[in-house]
Amino acid sequence: MYTKDIIHTSDAIANLFQLIDVDRFPHALLLKGATGSGKLILARALAQYLICSNKSNGESCGSCQHCHKSLKSIHPDIHFSFPITGAKVTCNDFMNDFREFIIEYPYSSGSDWITHMGEGKKTGNITAAECNRLSHIVHLKPYESDKKIVIIWLPEFLGKEGNRLLKMIEEPPSETYFIFVSDQADMILGTILSRCQIVNIAPIPTQIMADLLAEKYTLQADDALTIANLSEGNINEAFTISEHGENKFLPIWMNLFRSAYQGHPASIVKSVNDINELTKEEMKTFFRYCTHFLRQCLLLRYLPSKHVVLPQHEVELAQKVIAVVDDEAIQKVTTMLDEISYHLDRNANMKISLLNFAIKTNKALKKNAVMA
Ligand SMILES: [Zn+2]
Repeated sequence: MYTKDIIHTSDAIANLFQLIDVDRFPHALLLKGATGSGKLILARALAQYLICSNKSNGESCGSCQHCHKSLKSIHPDIHFSFPITGAKVTCNDFMNDFREFIIEYPYSSGSDWITHMGEGKKTGNITAAECNRLSHIVHLKPYESDKKIVIIWLPEFLGKEGNRLLKMIEEPPSETYFIFVSDQADMILGTILSRCQIVNIAPIPTQIMADLLAEKYTLQADDALTIANLSEGNINEAFTISEHGENKFLPIWMNLFRSAYQGHPASIVKSVNDINELTKEEMKTFFRYCTHFLRQCLLLRYLPSKHVVLPQHEVELAQKVIAVVDDEAIQKVTTMLDEISYHLDRNANMKISLLNFAIKTNKALKKNAVMA
């Protein structure tokens, strides 16, 4: 990965490359920040820069043997560790698949990876066997370069097993570097956190993301801006929505809203089942989309439509909604969306939570007439 592949750089990021130049790169670094902010790309760019034999001005050369292998994620001195499912397995059992995955989907979340492994809604973890593998790797000599880099993606999946790694993080063999990449740093073991230099990676700014989406997917500027706003700095999510060509959450949301509004049990159950098919990450985005849509409905009531961040065909639907639903009901449903997102984060039974949401939405809306 090149430095130029990092979509949004910052002083903190530039400083990391400078630390390599002056040979003061930390032996244990934690890159933390929200999903889809490009932290894994940054970690790979740092690893490549560390071992490139002809780097200059914060960029690796791209033509030395280290760069060649690092670009394909097959350098024998750049090791990856990541969440997997199963008890006695190690990341070696999944390595080829993982390498292809991060090249194809460089901004993915942990749940995207677990879904990709075919394990659906199972939770991944970094196993005891994997910690033993890491311990073994760290004590081997580098193969082709003079350095060894271990990128641990999502150390929040380590659990207590992570304590097996403490000693080698604290006193690594010379020229050994750990780069932890975390979406949820508050869930990492305190014993690991306290041994790392921590760098916070900010979400990608909305306008930068919108410009990128407009160019990559040939979108209209306002559509690209809507998607960028909705994605809240998560470029992975923005790509997923853009690839569908249109917002795939809109019909699901309209079905839920309409069925809750009308209070028809069979259509509520069908709508709930459709949403329950989404992955956890998709569901998160879906709830955020619903909240965004309702906020824009409130704006639309009081401001000209040019102030509303929705594509034109969604503005038309929002106008239908505000024609039949008052502000108080919209506020209530928005609060319930916050609650259901909270349940999702805590792994509640989403089918029950969604049914509950639909019934409460029906109560909040039922004073109004049937929606067109
Ligand atoms: Zn190079």
